[in-house]
Amino acid sequence: MFNKILIANRGEIACRIIKTCKRMGIATVAVHSDADATALHVRLADEAVAIGPSPAAQSYLVIDKIIAAARQTGAEAVHPGFGFLSENPKFVEALDAAGIVFIGPPVRAISAMGDKITSKKLAAEARVSTVPGHPDAVDDEASALKIADETGYPVMIKASAGGGGKGMRIARNAAEVREGLRSARNEARSSFGDERVFIEKYIEQPRHIEIQVLADAHGTTLHLGERECSIQRRHQKVVEEAPSPFLDPKTRAAMGAQAVALAAAVDYRSAGTVEFIVDRNKNFYFLEMNTRIQVEHPVTELVTGLDLVEWMIRIAAGEKLSFGQKDVKLNGWAVEARVYAEDPLRDFMPSIGRLVRYRTPGSPEDAAVTVRIDSGVDEGSEISMFYDPMIAKLVTHAPDRLRAIDAMQAALDAYGIRGINHNIAFLASVMTNPRFRAGDLSTNFITEEFPDGFQGAEASEETLEILIAAAAILQHRRAAQAATISGRMDGAPEFDADKPADWVVMLGQELRPRRVVPADGAYRVGGGSRELSIETEGRLHDLVLPCCIDGRPVTLQVDRRGPALRLGYAGVEIEVLVLTPLAAALAARMPVKEPPDLSRFLLSPMPGLLMTLVVEEGQLVKAGEELAVVEAMKMENVLRAERDGKVAKIHAGPGESLAVDQAILEFE
Ligand code: ADP
Repeated sequence: MFNKILIANRGEIACRIIKTCKRMGIATVAVHSDADATALHVRLADEAVAIGPSPAAQSYLVIDKIIAAARQTGAEAVHPGFGFLSENPKFVEALDAAGIVFIGPPVRAISAMGDKITSKKLAAEARVSTVPGHPDAVDDEASALKIADETGYPVMIKASAGGGGKGMRIARNAAEVREGLRSARNEARSSFGDERVFIEKYIEQPRHIEIQVLADAHGTTLHLGERECSIQRRHQKVVEEAPSPFLDPKTRAAMGAQAVALAAAVDYRSAGTVEFIVDRNKNFYFLEMNTRIQVEHPVTELVTGLDLVEWMIRIAAGEKLSFGQKDVKLNGWAVEARVYAEDPLRDFMPSIGRLVRYRTPGSPEDAAVTVRIDSGVDEGSEISMFYDPMIAKLVTHAPDRLRAIDAMQAALDAYGIRGINHNIAFLASVMTNPRFRAGDLSTNFITEEFPDGFQGAEASEETLEILIAAAAILQHRRAAQAATISGRMDGAPEFDADKPADWVVMLGQELRPRRVVPADGAYRVGGGSRELSIETEGRLHDLVLPCCIDGRPVTLQVDRRGPALRLGYAGVEIEVLVLTPLAAALAARMPVKEPPDLSRFLLSPMPGLLMTLVVEEGQLVKAGEELAVVEAMKMENVLRAERDGKVAKIHAGPGESLAVDQAILEFE
């Protein structure tokens, strides 16, 4: 076994690999860019080596620097994690030449699978079922249109070098093929430096189901069941689970056998994933093979009880798999939710900034439930524009699916993140979604269930009652605390916390009077549709407030914004003012401030780079016409006119960095 391993990655996956190494008694070396000098993975590792400036292209992606760091520290092997150099054949060759072990598959397997066109051909040869379409790169628009016609609409245009959902477009007609070809190529060139694209059938209402494989160097290749990853936005996964609620044992065995056959065909070694899309009739088609550990591997670990990183290390050290296919048992159900720094209210655009406050959920009370948090950050960490905006992976495991989902819901409610936008409320509303709970999934789930984007979960009257009662209690406790502070002005009203008090909760223009009655360490709140009993020991200024409401444990999110109180639960967020009855009567007489009219402006929906501006001052535009292209996180976003109009003034030019909501142009 190795004595020392270098981890050529950052963030949560670097931390996760370090944990397994520690358990195995292996010393660890972290590498880091300037931005990551004090990052969690650096602090967890036994040693750390600085490898350059913040942009990944000058640090995490520089092969020579990683090899020099391994040499300098005497690391015998390198674990690449995912992303960065994990699927780069040149990296593996350079490590081989330096006599350092790569903890992953042989270079041939990586090269074969790294290209979608080559891997699709290989899969077909290994008798793995593939998506119908044309197996070669398309040269020009004319042949693209011909292939699309032959394949039959709708089609998918895909970058051969693609990954992370980039360089991929659905086309439902010839015009969309033309535009899709252009934008997929542009994205492929800027993201992968390779503009080859190919065309295949777009499978309607598909599920994304993938098989985890594990192969040693002694001829054993087996699979560890499936993960369902159908909950995606921009073709990228956000919620995953194992097993899939869709597969029956027969389909699982058939998919498993094809995945193993494909792995064997390329002499695979280490952990890998064969991805399939599955249609409504359980026909499955090979998508691609990822020759590395996947982001969502924890759900497989929780249902199989195996540590995949440990097996990658053991296999790289030449060990044999100590179990066979029949020993692999799937126990219970696991769900993973990816907590991202992004703004679900703005089409999931990445958000950057500091984690001003950060609290992870505690251990569950139910002994049959596991909550696992794989995270690479802590309070004060910066989510920067340089890297992937994932904050953490929250994973729950329970004996059955609904219990795992409920545990996820509770853990999300108890997750406190402040300082940046994040998707916790969105994830919580997926957990309560009846279609998700019924397991009726497809990759269109988010677009179909949130057709206008995520505007915050809709509040049921019951949830509103809970939030309003909690707001009244918080104000009551705050008033009680204020009354104990010395040095109050003469004539300030007295407040006795142990006596009942009346409050008016203002939700927008709506007034909801409530009476708070302290009773034996708890509160009864009357005045709503029914009386609620709420017990809470939580501290007044904490981000999350654990409560017991009518005997049921519930965690609320709490934020103060000036005089306003913002409360959240199960994806629902409300902002209220809690006033004394007198103040409420006076507030009703205050003039209402009209919000400014911004509809004449084209605002940047995200922080990014203005790549092109297609219109000029004085130009007439029609609704739907392209106005500008903004690049953010290597994705091209086309901004279009919402209605007909005339461009009055241009406020930003190509090449300019845009802040979110910055005006790009103004209409007459
Ligand atoms: P990437 O390497 O960028 O992740 P994949 O080929 O793995 O790309 O596809 C990512 C996602 O895109 C899939 O999970 C699926 O939702 C969707 N997708 C890809 N190909 C097709 C197709 N032919 N039909 C329908 N959906 C597809």
